[in-house]
Amino acid sequence: MNSEITEIGIEATIYGTPPSVGAIRVRPLGTSERIWNGLAKFGTFLGIALVCVFFPIVHLVLVPLSLMMGLHFASKTIRVRDLIVSGSISCPKCGEPCILNAKLAQWPMTVDCSRCRRHIGIRLVEPAGPEDPAATSPRAIG
Ligand SMILES: [Zn+2]
Repeated sequence: MNSEITEIGIEATIYGTPPSVGAIRVRPLGTSERIWNGLAKFGTFLGIALVCVFFPIVHLVLVPLSLMMGLHFASKTIRVRDLIVSGSISCPKCGEPCILNAKLAQWPMTVDCSRCRRHIGIRLVEPAGPEDPAATSPRAIG
């Protein structure tokens, strides 16, 4: 297991307000962890499909749909390379700190502010270096 924790910059935006910046600490996921996360996601949808088997008629649609959704979300989960260890960012609208702990780092992500209930869009930003003007573009993951 790779336990190298790095700190990266993030930016939170809500339409119509100036963005706020913060930092999170992420740990890269190993290949086996990523596969297990994907299998866990697929297992969730497999469980939903098994429950749907007992509903007459609609199981003809719900079982294949659940299995296809399981494959889709499992493939998305396997591609996530980082786990957020800790971090928070202020809500751009009300300033309430939004805690981001133990989440898979899928970018861009959205969280809900606990005070003003707005959806906050969060994306990665690289630290701006003095001689690297392209450093403010978001980091590509995946
Ligand atoms: Zn807020």
